[in-house]
Amino acid sequence: MRLIWDIFTDRLSLWVRWCKEEILKGLSFWQLQWKQSLSVTWKHILKRRTSVAAILVYSILCNFTWSLWHDPWFQNFPLFELIGNRVIYNSGLPRDTTLSEVIQDSRWDWPAHVSQLRDIAAACSDSQIGQRDAIGWRRVGGAFSFKLAWESTRLAVPLVSWGKIVWFSGAIPRHLFCLWLTFHKAHFTRDKLHRLGIVQSNLCPFGCGQQESVDHLFF
Ligand SMILES: [Zn+2]
Repeated sequence: MRLIWDIFTDRLSLWVRWCKEEILKGLSFWQLQWKQSLSVTWKHILKRRTSVAAILVYSILCNFTWSLWHDPWFQNFPLFELIGNRVIYNSGLPRDTTLSEVIQDSRWDWPAHVSQLRDIAAACSDSQIGQRDAIGWRRVGGAFSFKLAWESTRLAVPLVSWGKIVWFSGAIPRHLFCLWLTFHKAHFTRDKLHRLGIVQSNLCPFGCGQQESVDHLFF
C-alpha cells in the first residue's frame, strides 16, 4: 500500500520513476492491465487496487492527470465500472479524457445529452470542488500511515480477555505460542489422543492418577 501511495504522491524515488517509465508508460495507475510479465510486486499491487480505492478520498479541483473514467474519484469506484463502455461512447468524451473535461470555471459541466450520466452529475453536485486537487488517505488531505493501512487490511475482531496474558512486550515466543494454544485448548493432550485411539492411556504421566487434559496441566 505504501508503494501505491508513493506512486500517487509522485515520491522522489528511483522506484517510482522507473515504474512510471517502464510499467505505467503514461497510463493511469487504475488503467494498468494485469499481465503475466509483471513482477511479483506489481501483481500484488494490482490485487490491492480495489481495497486502496475504497480508502482514498479525492479532493477535486480540475486535475489534468486524473482519468475521468478510470480513476476511482467518484464514490471510490471507477466510472468505467459503473456505467460501461456504451455510455462512455455516447458521451463523446475520449477514453483517456481527464476530469478537467467535466469542470468549467470550478463548476461541474457534464454532457447533458447522456441520460445515464445525469445520476452521476446529480451526485457530483453535492461534492464540492475544492481549493486544490489532492488524494487523501482515509480523510481529506490525509497522509499515508502504516497503522491506518494495517487497520484497513486486517480483520478486526474484539479483544479476548486473555490477550494481555499471552501477548506482552518481552514475552518469549515459544512460551507465548504454547500459552496461545492453551487458551484455544489446542494442545494434543492425552485425553484427546486417547479418544482418537492414538495412545493407550489418558492418565497424566506424572503419576498423579488424574486424566491429562489442558485444565489439568495448566489451570
Ligand atoms: Zn498430573
